[in-house]
Amino acid sequence: MSDFKEILSQAKKQITEVSVHEVRDKFNLSNGFMLLDVRESDEWEQGHLDQAVFLPRGFLEVKADKLLPDRQQPVVVYCAGGVRSALAAKTLQDLGYSRVYSMRGGFGEWKNNGLPFVVPEKVGKDQWARYSRHLRIPEVGEKGQLKLLKSKVLLVGAGGLGSPAGVYLAASGVGTIGLVDDDVVDESNLQRQILHWTSSVGMPKVDSARRTLFEVNPDVKVRMHQVRLDASNVLDIIQDYDVIVSGSDNFTTAYMVNDAAVLLKKPVVYGSIFRFDGQASTFIPYEGPCFRCLYATATPPELAPSCDEAGVLGVLPGVIGLIQATEVIKLLLNIGTTLSGRLLVYDALEMTFRQFKLHRDSNCATCGPNAHIDLESVPQFVCAVQATAK
Ligand SMILES: [Zn+2]
Repeated sequence: MSDFKEILSQAKKQITEVSVHEVRDKFNLSNGFMLLDVRESDEWEQGHLDQAVFLPRGFLEVKADKLLPDRQQPVVVYCAGGVRSALAAKTLQDLGYSRVYSMRGGFGEWKNNGLPFVVPEKVGKDQWARYSRHLRIPEVGEKGQLKLLKSKVLLVGAGGLGSPAGVYLAASGVGTIGLVDDDVVDESNLQRQILHWTSSVGMPKVDSARRTLFEVNPDVKVRMHQVRLDASNVLDIIQDYDVIVSGSDNFTTAYMVNDAAVLLKKPVVYGSIFRFDGQASTFIPYEGPCFRCLYATATPPELAPSCDEAGVLGVLPGVIGLIQATEVIKLLLNIGTTLSGRLLVYDALEMTFRQFKLHRDSNCATCGPNAHIDLESVPQFVCAVQATAK
C-alpha cells in the first residue's frame, strides 16, 4: 500500500522536471514544445501561459489522443504548484508520450517570477443568457461568440436583403453593423423590409434600421453611412469591415462593391431577388470567383436584382437574406463550407434550390491576371427591368 506522498515521489522520480526559467528560455513554443495546462477551468480562467492547451487532469486519458495526436511531440505540463502536472506527466509517459516534462512550481511559481501570462476573455455574465444557445454549440462556443462580438459587417443596402440579414446578425451578436443606404422609408417597402415599421415611413432608412437593430440587441454598435456608394467613398467605407453583404438593388453598386472589395481583399456575400427567384453566392477575392467573373458585362433581365418596378414576393428576401447572414457567420467563425465557387439559385414557386459551379474567369477585369481596377469607370447600369420596358 502506498499513500499519496509515495505515489507522488515515485512519479517525480520517473519524470523530468524543468524550472519556470527553463520553460521561458528553452522548453517553449518557439522550440516546438507544447504547453499543456492540466488545471481546472476556474484556474485557467484566471490566467494561463500564452498559447497553452487546456486539458484538465481529470480528462487527460480521455482526451490526450485528440489534443496530442503525436506521441513524439515534446510537451511541458503545468498545473498550479507542480503536483498534478507531475502525475499528469507520468500518465502521459505511460500512454506512450516520449518527451514529457513537468514545470516545477507550476503557474504559481511562473507568476511569482513576474513571467508573462494571459487572461482569457470571457463573454460577460450579463450576456450569458442572450447568447446561451450559441455557447452550447461547440463550433461557436464562447470563443466564437467573442469573435462575433468583435466582428464588423457592412450591409450595403438596408432594404429587402439587408433587413433579414441585419436583424439576424444583430441578434447573433455581431458587434458592429454598418449600414449604407441613402434612401428614405416608403410605404411600399414595408411588405418585405422588416427593418422598417409603419411608423418609420418618411425616415431615412439608416435611422429606422438603427432603431430596430438597437431594439433587437443593444450590444450591437450600428454605424450609419447615409450615402450612395461611389468611387470617392467606397474604399473608405468598406475598409474597416470584415465582411460585406451586398444586397443593393442595382448593378452599378454591385460592381462598385465587388471591385472595391477585391482591391481590399474583403469577402462579399452576394444576394439578389426577383419576383419568385433568388440567388446567393460568396465571393472571396483571389480564392474564388468574384461578381465580375459571374457577370462580366451583360445583365440578363431575368437575373437582375429587384428594381422597385420588378416586383418581388414579400417573403423571398427573407430566405435569401438569411442565406447571406448564414454565410457571414460561417466566414467570421471560419466554419463549414461557404458558397465560394457556387451560385445557389432558389425558386420559391417550385420550392427548389439548385447550385451552379462558378469558376474564376481568367479574363476577369477585376480579379484576372491582367485586371485593372478603376473605380471611376464602373459602368452606370440602368435597372435591367426598366431597360427591357423601354
Ligand atoms: Zn473576377
